Amino acid sequence: MTDLRVRIAPSPTGTVHLGLCRTALFNWAYAKKRGGTFVLRVEDTDKTRSTRESEEAILEGLRWLGVNWDEGPDVGGPYAPYRQSERAGGHGVLIEELLRSGSAYRCFCTPERLAEVREVQEKAKETPRYDGTCRDLSPEESQRRADAGEPFAVRFRIPDGATTIHDLVRGDVTFEHKEIDDWIMARRDGSPTYNFVVVSDDLAMKITHVFRGEEHLVNTPKQTLLYQAMGQEPPRFGHLPLMLGKDRKKLSKRSGDTALGDYIANGYPKEAIVNFLCLQGWALDGETEVFDVDTFVENFDIENVQKAGAVFDIDKFRWLSADTIRRMGIPELAQEVAPFTVKAGQMSESDIASRQDWFQRLVAGEQERIELFSEFPGRVASFFEADDAVTYADKAEAGARKHDARIEILRSFAEWLKGREAGESPEDMAGAAKAWVKDRGLKFPALFQPLRCALTGMAGGRDLFDCIDLLGRDSALARIETAMTRLA
Ligand code: GLU
Repeated sequence: MTDLRVRIAPSPTGTVHLGLCRTALFNWAYAKKRGGTFVLRVEDTDKTRSTRESEEAILEGLRWLGVNWDEGPDVGGPYAPYRQSERAGGHGVLIEELLRSGSAYRCFCTPERLAEVREVQEKAKETPRYDGTCRDLSPEESQRRADAGEPFAVRFRIPDGATTIHDLVRGDVTFEHKEIDDWIMARRDGSPTYNFVVVSDDLAMKITHVFRGEEHLVNTPKQTLLYQAMGQEPPRFGHLPLMLGKDRKKLSKRSGDTALGDYIANGYPKEAIVNFLCLQGWALDGETEVFDVDTFVENFDIENVQKAGAVFDIDKFRWLSADTIRRMGIPELAQEVAPFTVKAGQMSESDIASRQDWFQRLVAGEQERIELFSEFPGRVASFFEADDAVTYADKAEAGARKHDARIEILRSFAEWLKGREAGESPEDMAGAAKAWVKDRGLKFPALFQPLRCALTGMAGGRDLFDCIDLLGRDSALARIETAMTRLA
């Protein structure tokens, strides 16, 4: 282990956001490659919005992705507790010290007064900011009012000047202090705010590198000044580019397409999700898009992360998903699609277990055709329909009806099928059927379109003789029989 320590500090206020997953992966990979420590600290300072359910979902989601932390609320560690709300004692001591040194001051302004100031500034088209009323109260007066029980917030005193951040992704970024407000470190109810606790806890946990989303870049000068006020060296910062929608606007929880759980529920394979997230702001070599997580860990460096926003390309995501599915072994793919089959009410878990060979063959025929696990039930639905009630897709029926001799062809094919030896392999039967079609001077679609409609109701799909084999001959014959009426 080196001294390198990185962390993620998720706020447990909702679903597991893909942006958080990406930040976690990048931090984890950075530490893993370099023998560092990866810390998970729950940032539950927003008491009204934080929930335990959300915390549990975040931990579960990240663990599902394969991101493992060395220290965290569930696994403990030398700097416990790893839930910010449980670290209040340490926060209080620091605030006292900063008040004493003059880096912070008490602000007695009431919310009503602050609202009035803001209103006046907004009317004058000025950027709303604190007007500094309490900035220069004498220490004695400040102490006296506090002792008298007057409620106060604690503000950080921003000094004159400018701060330059040496960001590992973005290079040097300079912030003029006059643009930064004397920000609140502790609210009137005593509760500390994000910018304060994050520094206090990163310091206490000896965090050396902070990699997080670009939305936090604006907070970095505030945090850097706080480190300096405490006489401490800030960690190295690296701000990961925003994940943007196709409209180039930031992907937000509200846009509804950011929750890890939705992608899992929609049947994206884990490997594809990880692969896709790795590509959000980072590239292996500018060409290779498909790689596994070990390759990512081996090659990832914060300095290779791009500055420009990462456009979230859902088509590429689906493509990666399809590609992952194609590379899976059938038993593994069968295991992944099984829950979707059960959920669709097609088979129970025990049906799947007892007909595992059959199920795997059903799966094998769709491997090239599905892009998401969730598409599987829709593709095989006809196998679970009653023989006399197969749903015919319009396109399948129209294709079948193009052939005037369809009923005659289906009738003689059924006769032919009845005469085939039991246990004949689908390959052998396919060869024989093709010869049968040719002998009659027909074109293949003259048989195959009506037959496919009869058996599956679909216009395209897996090999028809595989279908016959999977359905069983009796069921296939019953479906042909029905079709002779329905397609008449
Ligand atoms: N709680 C913050 C967030 O979820 C963490 C910010 C940070 O990493 O400093 O965005």
